Amino acid sequence: MNAIVEDIHDPHPDIRVIRLRVTSAPVTWLAGQFMELSLPGLPSRPYSIASAPHTGVLEFHIRNTNRGGVSQQVRSLKTGDTLTLRGPFGTATRGSADQDPMILIAGGMGLAPMKALIDDALYHGHPGPVTLYWGARTQKDLYLADYFTVLAQANPVFTFVPVIEDRGDGLVGDAAIRDPVPLPGASIYLSGPSPMVQATIPLLLAQGAQTGKIHTDDAAGRLLLGTP
Ligand SMILES: Cc1cc2nc3c(=O)[nH]c(=O)nc-3n(C[C@H](O)[C@H](O)[C@H](O)COP(=O)(O)OP(=O)(O)OC[C@H]3O[C@@H](n4cnc5c(N)ncnc54)[C@H](O)[C@@H]3O)c2cc1C
Repeated sequence: MNAIVEDIHDPHPDIRVIRLRVTSAPVTWLAGQFMELSLPGLPSRPYSIASAPHTGVLEFHIRNTNRGGVSQQVRSLKTGDTLTLRGPFGTATRGSADQDPMILIAGGMGLAPMKALIDDALYHGHPGPVTLYWGARTQKDLYLADYFTVLAQANPVFTFVPVIEDRGDGLVGDAAIRDPVPLPGASIYLSGPSPMVQATIPLLLAQGAQTGKIHTDDAAGRLLLGTP
């Protein structure tokens, strides 16, 4: 399907946020899913949808890896340009009627699908608690910290826990299991570097999290969970 670039901004020197509107046919997606994005002459790449479905606008957060691929070419996009998408794909989603406590654990760019899940949950009146743990090396890497701080002030059911390695907070998965959250009943979402996902799953299971309630699209993480 074709999509037109409606808006571009760079909240961090390496991260570009693009908003697209599909022009070829209406697209529906579930919070937490991803799409394959194609640019001319390059192999396509998957990117998580960072916007909730009710917005009707597809938002992607893309970190430039500087290796000549899609994430670098995205730096040349301008508003009004057209690109090609496939999807949506992925099963680390939530039903809009799901009222279980939500724990979202993100490393780095793993934040993108979590933003969609949180915005979707709050839009549908989730009773809470909804808790986001977002880990990064430095404060500057938490490029949407202000967004989630304001969201938490406006929504008492939502808590934002930044986990910054450089100030000694440790790893994001460890931070999540230290808190007295109701792990056995919670829906838990994991997204980020595969080693982070793989290290965190056993910690969650050891604390009583239910296998069927841990959601990730990380292939190695899904193997650990025994989910197809
Ligand atoms: C489910 C999922 C969700 C993801 N979500 C996000 C997200 O929200 N945000 C994010 O930043 N990342 C996300 N990623 C990572 C993302 O998919 C890419 O792996 C990342 O952006 C790097 O892609 P790249 O093409 O820029 O670089 P690389 O994968 O390193 O590709 C560079 C490669 O492009 C090829 N190439 C370069 N130039 C050419 C050319 N001229 N012709 C042909 N081939 C060429 C070469 O093979 C080169 O090695 C996600 C990954 C997965 C699996």
